[in-house]
Amino acid sequence: MATIEVLNPATGEKVGEVPLHTTAHCLGAAVTASEAFIPWRQRTGRERGEMLRRAYETMLAEQEQLAELIVRENGKVLSDAKAEVLYAAEFFRWFSEEAVRVDGDLRQAPNGSHWFAITRQPVGVALCITPWNFPAAMATRKIGPALAAGCTVLLKPASETPLTAYAIADILYRCGVPKDVLQVLTPDPPGEAVHALLSLGVVRKLSFTGSTRVGSLLLSQAAERVVNCSMELGGNAPFIVCDDADIDAAVDGAMIAKMRNGGAACTAANRFFVHSAVHDEFVQKFTARMSALVVGNGLADGVTLGPLVSNAQQIRVAHLIAASVDAGATIECGGGITPAPMHGVDATVLTNVSSTNPILNEEVFGPVAPIVRIDSIEDSLPLFNNVEHGLVSYIYTRNVGRGMRIANALETGMVGLNRGLVSDPAAPFGGVKASGLGREGAHEGLLAFLETKYVSTEW
Ligand code: NAD
Repeated sequence: MATIEVLNPATGEKVGEVPLHTTAHCLGAAVTASEAFIPWRQRTGRERGEMLRRAYETMLAEQEQLAELIVRENGKVLSDAKAEVLYAAEFFRWFSEEAVRVDGDLRQAPNGSHWFAITRQPVGVALCITPWNFPAAMATRKIGPALAAGCTVLLKPASETPLTAYAIADILYRCGVPKDVLQVLTPDPPGEAVHALLSLGVVRKLSFTGSTRVGSLLLSQAAERVVNCSMELGGNAPFIVCDDADIDAAVDGAMIAKMRNGGAACTAANRFFVHSAVHDEFVQKFTARMSALVVGNGLADGVTLGPLVSNAQQIRVAHLIAASVDAGATIECGGGITPAPMHGVDATVLTNVSSTNPILNEEVFGPVAPIVRIDSIEDSLPLFNNVEHGLVSYIYTRNVGRGMRIANALETGMVGLNRGLVSDPAAPFGGVKASGLGREGAHEGLLAFLETKYVSTEW
C-alpha cells in the first residue's frame, strides 16, 4: 500500500509513515461508519462516557510518549507538547462527564391542549478534519463530544501530523471503542476524497478546524447535501495594552498569547496595540523576553522555541517579516530564520508598525509580534475590529469595568481580560465573522453533535 512519509521539521528525518488512502477507501469507511452508527448510539451514555474516561486516564499515563511523538512530527518544544497532551486528554474527561448529560425538555402548547417532548439525538456519521498545529487537542476536541453524543467518526488529520491521530485512535480502541466507530483517514491531497465524502449522503456532520480558505471551500461543498457544519477557522487576535495596565502582567500574558505553540495557534496574539504612555516600557520588557528564546530541536535541552512545521510555513513567515519591514516596521529582535533542514524562525518583535502595515491583515501563525503605538484605546475600537476574523482578543487594564466595556465592544467570540490564555475544555471556544460557526468544548461542544427532535403528544 502507498504511504505518506512523516518528516521531523527540526531534522528533516523520517519519523514514520501512515497509509495513503484512496478516495474509494474513504468512501468504504463512510459506509462502515454508517453501519456502525445504530449499534453505537444504542450503547448507553454511561458506557460511552466510561470509554472516554479510560482514554483520558490512558493519555495521562502515556503523556511522555505522546508528547515526544508530537514534537517529532510537529516541531513544538517538549513542554508545549506535554501541555497539549494534558489539554487534549481533558476533552476526553470533560466529554466523559457530558455523555450522561444529554438532556431533553417537556413543554406545553400555549393553548394547553398538548405537549412537546423534546429530545436530542446524535447527528450520525461525523467527518472531523483537523490541522497540524495541535495534532492531539484538535482531534480530541471533536472525537470526545462526537463519541459522547453517539456519533461515529471519520477523523482526517493534517498530512503533516497524522501519527498523533493514529496514536489517539489506538488509545480509544484499547479503551473499548470499536474500530468501525472511529476510523482515521489519510488521503493526500485530501480535496477529492473529502468532497466525495460530503457528496455521498452518508456523512451528516462536518466538523472542521483549519484555515478560513479551506473552511469556506468545504462549506460550499457541504451545501450540496446540506451537511450540518461546525467551523473553527483562522484568527487575527488583537492584544491591547491600556495605559493603566500592569505591564509585567501584560508581558507575561503576551508571552503566552503570542508564543504558546511557537506562535502557531489560531488564538495567537497577532496584532499588538499598546498605549503610548506605556509603549516603551512594554516594548523593552517584551523584547527582552522574546530575544531570550532559543530556537532549536524541541527535544533538546535549553530549547524554548521549536521550528515551524514545514519549509513552506518558514518561507511564508519570513516573507511576512520582510513585507512588514518594507512597509516601515523596525525589527527590535529576531528577524532571521534557521538554516535547512530546520524550519525555524527567530522570535521577532516589530515596532513602528503603522495601522496600515499589511502584516496586520494576515494570520502570522509564527513567532512574530507586530506592535502598533496608539494614543487612545477607546477611539481605536474600529481599528481592533477592522479585520475579517473574530476569534479572540486580549486586553490588559487594571480597571476591570473598563476592560469589560472594551470586551463587549470587540467583535470576537472570546476575550482574555488580564489573561493570555482562553482555551479550556469547559468553556465554549469559537469565533465570529470569518473565524467560524459554532462552538467546541463546554456543553455547546456536545450539542454540536446532536439534533433536536420533538414528539408532539396528547395524553
Ligand atoms: P488548512 O486549512 O490548510 O488544513 C486543515 C485541514 O484541512 C488539514 O487536515 C488539511 O489536510 C485539510 N485540507 C486542506 N485542504 C483541503 C481540501 N481542499 N479539502 C479538504 N480538506 C483539506 O489549515 P492548517 O494549515 O493545517 O492549520 C492552520 C489553520 O488552522 C490556521 O488558519 C489556524 O488559525 C486554524 N486553526 C483554527 C483553530 C480554531 O479553533 N479556530 C484551531 C487551530 C487551527
